[in-house]
Amino acid sequence: GHYLRNIEEKNKTLNAFVEVYTDFALAQAQALDARIKAGEPVGRLAGMVIGIKDVLCLKDFGLQGSSKILDKFKSQFTGTAIQRLLDEDAIIIGRQNCDEFAMGSSNENSAFGVVRNAADTTRVPGGSSGGSAVAVQADMCWASIGSDTGGSVRQPASFCGLVGLKPTYSRISRYGLIAYASSFDCIGPITRNVPDAALLLEVMAGADDFDSTVSQKPVPAYSQQLAWNGAGKKIAYLRESLESEAIAPAIRESMKKRVEFLKQQGYTVEGVEFPLLEYILPTYYILTMAEASANLSRYDGVRYGHRTENAPDLETMYKRTRAEGFGREVKRRIMLGTFVLSASYYDAYFTKAQRVRRLIKEKTESLLTEYDFLLMPTSPTTAFKIGENSAESDPLAMFLADIYSVQANVAGVTGISIPAGNDEQNLPIGLQIMANAFRETDLLAFSNYLE
Ligand code: GLN
Repeated sequence: GHYLRNIEEKNKTLNAFVEVYTDFALAQAQALDARIKAGEPVGRLAGMVIGIKDVLCLKDFGLQGSSKILDKFKSQFTGTAIQRLLDEDAIIIGRQNCDEFAMGSSNENSAFGVVRNAADTTRVPGGSSGGSAVAVQADMCWASIGSDTGGSVRQPASFCGLVGLKPTYSRISRYGLIAYASSFDCIGPITRNVPDAALLLEVMAGADDFDSTVSQKPVPAYSQQLAWNGAGKKIAYLRESLESEAIAPAIRESMKKRVEFLKQQGYTVEGVEFPLLEYILPTYYILTMAEASANLSRYDGVRYGHRTENAPDLETMYKRTRAEGFGREVKRRIMLGTFVLSASYYDAYFTKAQRVRRLIKEKTESLLTEYDFLLMPTSPTTAFKIGENSAESDPLAMFLADIYSVQANVAGVTGISIPAGNDEQNLPIGLQIMANAFRETDLLAFSNYLE
């Protein structure tokens, strides 16, 4: 009731939910109430109200990746992560606005229009899981489930003053997640605090017959292991986070305070250089666009959603459907992705980027072996104005803002953004912490301590 009222009141302005499952949510709540009254045992998420990004399948409900090309499409099945939430008696309250097919950093590339940051409605919420972040920020649900291919959970969480967790690649099954770039995509929670993130990860993670890439490693009880034992821990921070002119002064200041605090607490805290930093973004964008161009080829007007009304023959039908259905950013990426995969440029771009990815992965892993954690900003700025940085006017500037968030995905390791104060305009700042693959237990305990 509480959340539905808040949605009623605020969603018109904020545009975080694209569809609210009022009847479904109330029916789930009633069924749960009846079981509680009957004295039956209930799940670990009993009564927790969760919103899901419009890239996650829930059977018989709409699913669009916030794209026109999936107009009127309904999920045929429920994805593994979402099913596990339902199995623990969570209440799914609706699907949330995002950048089209999760491509963007501001939620301005959505067929449903921009989402507004509740801290300042003239500003973006971040992206691509912008609706998911604002829904928690404005108390329209207890937590949200987003997806993070290059920062899409962490960056909007940082813009909205929340916790955003990107697990290790393959920790959570991708079955029932619309694919953007399959070797980068991760499902992750956006929450008010670290314990909530730990609990949601614990419920969603683990082996799954429907995703052949998912890790078979057992899932620790993250939510039970949040007590921090800092003995002997070594912490690195990206040296440029304190120095670079490209980072907003308030963010540098917040980083500096954090580093000093940790030193005072007696930890080994050292500034490090990341030698391949300048290669991370080009590698990320070449590979994700290549994978995206392949993944998006399935939207042909035959199998899913939108089909043009105006098609004299099959080939024209394909072309017009895609021309009408995809937005500008998605088209740009399909073209660039197709280009780097084309026979004459494959080796120069795609193969080379694959090799560089391997190097970045090795260097990141060895850094995270030497140190337990690596600290850096989640984003070089706080939430920017709607339209200010838009992909329409300057796509490159938008890509550059992802500088710190894509490394975890390129390397496949885990990362989290936690709230780290506000800037002079009272906009939230995010601190990012990365840890080696499958070190979520430690990462969450450390984040819980810092938060
Ligand atoms: N902003 C990045 C991109 O546009 C990340 C998106 C994401 O993580 N889904 O690719």
